[in-house]
Amino acid sequence: MSGEVFALPGAAPSASAIKLYARETAGFAERLAKTVELLQEAVLDHGDGLLQSSSLGAEDMVITDLIARHKLPIAIATLDTGRLHAETLALLPQIEARYGLKVAVYSPVNDAVVTFVRVRGADAMYESLALRKECCAIRKLEPLSRMLDGRTAWITGLRREQSSNRAVVPFSEPDHQGRTKLNVLADWSWADVWHYIATYDLPFNALHDQFMPSIGCAPCTRAISVGEDFRSGRWWWESEDAKECGLHKSHSNEELKTGASA
Ligand code: SF4
Repeated sequence: MSGEVFALPGAAPSASAIKLYARETAGFAERLAKTVELLQEAVLDHGDGLLQSSSLGAEDMVITDLIARHKLPIAIATLDTGRLHAETLALLPQIEARYGLKVAVYSPVNDAVVTFVRVRGADAMYESLALRKECCAIRKLEPLSRMLDGRTAWITGLRREQSSNRAVVPFSEPDHQGRTKLNVLADWSWADVWHYIATYDLPFNALHDQFMPSIGCAPCTRAISVGEDFRSGRWWWESEDAKECGLHKSHSNEELKTGASA
């Protein structure tokens, strides 16, 4: 990474994500046109059964903008795990104000969270992989299953470049429950994502300016250093193979494993 990096006393190091990452590269216009085409086809194929599952990350802000810009009748939803950063949640009113679109928010079952925290502790995710996955099951998988209930297809922001586990992400694939998962930005680069954000002046998570390219729950996300992998700030205490929470299956060149990272 390059660009201006600075830090005020006591503040997290920060640098403009747009300055760091935005770059127009060969083939961008074609990739953008293909994404719009995929979204339009998905509307024709799935109608009301189609949903954008947004993490409110940079990729998903691009997809939401495309939905609004092309007036596509696609519902948008997100998961509020109860452990998100304030900067992430701040995007919800911004999306509503900018596009007039309501993002449906799905939260975990309160009793399940309260019991887990009482028995296992608020930061049990650091104690073992099993407890981390139990937390993800309660806070992410259960509400995701409600989010997708009645849907036939969902749109994600997965990209091949994000990690080795996602190196062969297809544009369209079946999920675990017979739905179609549409990864409409599969062939976009990180530079493409930020070129689009810069071009259309999109709102984005302020934490992207603090060296957090991939943002999940606050306890499980940290800033990365120069040279570290895109997703190395997620569940950083675990091995690469363990970085699964079940929202997506892994896509490695070697094998398709069950489970995956959000
Ligand atoms: S990412 Fe971390 S805090 Fe969020 S649900 Fe999973 S273990 Fe819990």
